[in-house]
Amino acid sequence: MATEHRHPRCVTPSGGIASSAPTEALVIAELRREIGNLKLQREADADEAAATYDAMTAEIARAEEYGRNEVQRANDTTDYVIAERDARISQLERLVETPRCGDLGLFFDQQLSPDRAAAFRIHLATCTRCDAGLLDLAQSEASMKAAKPDPTRGG
Ligand SMILES: [Zn+2]
Repeated sequence: MATEHRHPRCVTPSGGIASSAPTEALVIAELRREIGNLKLQREADADEAAATYDAMTAEIARAEEYGRNEVQRANDTTDYVIAERDARISQLERLVETPRCGDLGLFFDQQLSPDRAAAFRIHLATCTRCDAGLLDLAQSEASMKAAKPDPTRGG
């Protein structure tokens, strides 16, 4: 049988000095915890601010990209309209009879001087009238030759 040890100095009292020391420590711990929370909050705020900044930067970049695309689209449309108009102009120019077109018959009959024949060949490359006219002349000559017996072939 063990006797219960009850020395007064060994018993921890529930009040007095023994209770005031832990309270101070608790206050310090509480303050530290609060500081820690504030630091976490500050970091969270900084993160949020950074995220907001990133989002805004991305939004601005998207807006700039959109603006650039719109400008590009407008330029493309303008380029397209100009190209269409240029194509139409050169198409019409090819249909217009030029003084050079008058040389077609002489060119076909090889009656032009070499200089004029050379100039006509250059003209022929861009003139659909003369191009078509030359083909007509060649076809009508071919049909005329077909109608007559060819003296070079003999009988
Ligand atoms: Zn012509």
